[in-house]
Amino acid sequence: MSHSVQRVRLVIRGAVQGVGFRPFVYRLATELDLRGWVLNSAQGVFIEVEGEPTLLQQFVKRLYHELPPRAFIQSMEQSVLDPVGYTTFEIRHSEETGEKSAFILPDIATCADCLREIFDPANRRYRYPFTNCTNCGPRYSIIESLPYDRPNTTMKAFTMCAKCREEYENPLDRRFHAQPNACPECGPRLDLWDERGSVLAQHDEALRRAADAIREGRIVAVKGLGGFHLIVDARNEQAVRRLRERKRREEKPFALMYPSLQVVQAHCRVDETEERVLTSPESPIVLLHRKVDADIAPSVAPGNPYLGVMLPYTPLHHLLLAELGFPVVATSGNLSDEPICTDEHEALQRLAGIADLFLVHNRPIARHVDDSVVRVLMGREMVLRRARGYAPLPVLVKEPLPPLLAVGAHLKNTVALSVGRQVFISQHIGDLETPQALEAFRRVTADVQALWEHQPQAVACDLHPDYLSTQSAHRMGLPVVSVQHHYAHVLACMAENEVAPPVLGISWDGTGYGVDGTVWGGEFLLVTETDFERVAHLRPFHLPGGDRAVKEPRRSALGVLYEMLGEQAFELLGERFTAYERHLLAQMLRQGVNAPVTTSAGRLFDAVASLVTGRQVANFEGQAAMELEFLVHSAPGGDSYPFTLSQGTPRVLDWSPMVAAILQDVQQGVEPPMIALRFHNTLVEMMVAVAKAVGVERIAFSGGCFQNAYLTERAVHRLTEEGFRVHWHQRVPPNDGGIALGQVVAAGIIRSSPSPGGL
Ligand code: ZN
Ligand code: ZN
Ligand code: FE
Repeated sequence: MSHSVQRVRLVIRGAVQGVGFRPFVYRLATELDLRGWVLNSAQGVFIEVEGEPTLLQQFVKRLYHELPPRAFIQSMEQSVLDPVGYTTFEIRHSEETGEKSAFILPDIATCADCLREIFDPANRRYRYPFTNCTNCGPRYSIIESLPYDRPNTTMKAFTMCAKCREEYENPLDRRFHAQPNACPECGPRLDLWDERGSVLAQHDEALRRAADAIREGRIVAVKGLGGFHLIVDARNEQAVRRLRERKRREEKPFALMYPSLQVVQAHCRVDETEERVLTSPESPIVLLHRKVDADIAPSVAPGNPYLGVMLPYTPLHHLLLAELGFPVVATSGNLSDEPICTDEHEALQRLAGIADLFLVHNRPIARHVDDSVVRVLMGREMVLRRARGYAPLPVLVKEPLPPLLAVGAHLKNTVALSVGRQVFISQHIGDLETPQALEAFRRVTADVQALWEHQPQAVACDLHPDYLSTQSAHRMGLPVVSVQHHYAHVLACMAENEVAPPVLGISWDGTGYGVDGTVWGGEFLLVTETDFERVAHLRPFHLPGGDRAVKEPRRSALGVLYEMLGEQAFELLGERFTAYERHLLAQMLRQGVNAPVTTSAGRLFDAVASLVTGRQVANFEGQAAMELEFLVHSAPGGDSYPFTLSQGTPRVLDWSPMVAAILQDVQQGVEPPMIALRFHNTLVEMMVAVAKAVGVERIAFSGGCFQNAYLTERAVHRLTEEGFRVHWHQRVPPNDGGIALGQVVAAGIIRSSPSPGGL
């Protein structure tokens, strides 16, 4: 079997049953000479195709564009997997496994038919912002309980008019059993409110006046599908700055909504895969390379070569953006770190002083659902934030699991629940730093259990005793399974890629509680059927001030240099701190007080950033590391620095020869992009060295560091070159948003294993 052959698995939901879809897939696959199968099941249509990557790409593209009439894709999840060696393409017969658990669709972006109607002056839904049909519209964000019928949704308060009712009851109509069906006669309506909630305008006039306000540079809070957006003109620097000040968000990039794909293409480089994702029913924010002349205010994404871009995904957004004709900032309606606002009355309180006006409607939002974020890496999707369009679709695991609940980690929290072979992963909840976020966490945890009516046998949580998620797990009155953070990361990657042990997991992130009580984050874990072994890690160092170092890369730099050079570190970094700070930090490091030991790769990134880019204080998590990655874009190409790998178990990767060489490069005035590139290349060579020493063929990447495109692509490339099979995240985030999935899998292993060692 050629090494370049891949297997693509597609899970498709929508109007794809009984419309000639399977024969269509069969014809397309055989025409492209792909092997595999198509299968209809209660959970959707499953397709597996094997062949050369370019043919597989064509297959996916043509599947979208050449769909039979009446077929419609509401959701399509794609995973690239190892080939299994199919020899023919066949239509398989559905195996009814009896596992017909309730199925909840994510929210679906407006379909082409509905879009035509809202812009057709002759149509009764002309300019109606809540138009939807069986193929599109709200789902997860309006469902209160199952089964999915109108009385169980937030549409229950609206009684269908005679015309809507007729559509709803006619099997030949596009709106047959479309639960949120509505029209201007009978459905939800728009209001424009001032800051006190007084109605300024209604219906279409509300929309037009909101557009006027945005055009004038004002900040408008818009109630959308899964919550509020704060919207301003993305070209207006003053307006964007005002939004940053009011939202207390200093430099973290803002997401943009564009009026059309054409305008996106004028501002950004968009490849085929990126275009497909942008225009998909999931309609996430996609990270795109911006063009230098893009007419976007500098404060939208300061110093960032990417823009986070999405297209309108509800009729309301389509109408608003068509009215405007230019891109807008569409950032979640909240104060930094809080969860997104979903209720208009609550929004008046929480967004007071941020928004000038409120464009609201009276269709309640059952649960918050943020915009998802995707980046395309090596031709594959990588979901960085899994929410609207994806949640609550399950990841299918190999063996059925007992009902287990997992509560995730601390940052980018999500929770998960297993039902048979399906693991449902909740929408993104966020960092559990504020009372509001903790409240959202409690709501979602109760919500997933209520929706699937499943009583978990046990709850899985992080090993970290201080995480609020861990503490709440211990209060649930269920058996608790504590799962080491980096083990959960690797299991999540293995689960979604369907990789069996033994696997060498490379789990690199900012922080995670280790089994020895130190802060891990640069880990190499050998994962077996029942357990894991820490076979290697980065050389540890002390982090003066602990968690404060996350916000101050200069502290990581000090910790790293102190480990290497002792007191001399203060001379090298002296001017980065005040005399008083130096005094305090010296005490911490000398006495080892409030200076936890860490092997974190994220902090090593911070340390090097501090030395190379001069970024001493970060405005948001990961900023320093991101800036280091961005520098690589402008490097011409280069080699790597020296490092050493010890013998024994665990082996220790010593970065000190690298840091010494970096200091020398800095002193000699080597350009920062070159140093950044060499640093990245060195990290990759470290992975290669450990992989060779361990000698396990399959490798899984997980942890926030693998959001770094250069690091991931180069590591995949080099390890593949050396004969390893590398797996990375696709549908589940590599960051802590994927931890809950790994925790469920771990709990399944630990609870069924006779002697759970190592934990
Ligand atoms: Zn539609
Ligand atoms: Zn109606
Ligand atoms: Fe992590």
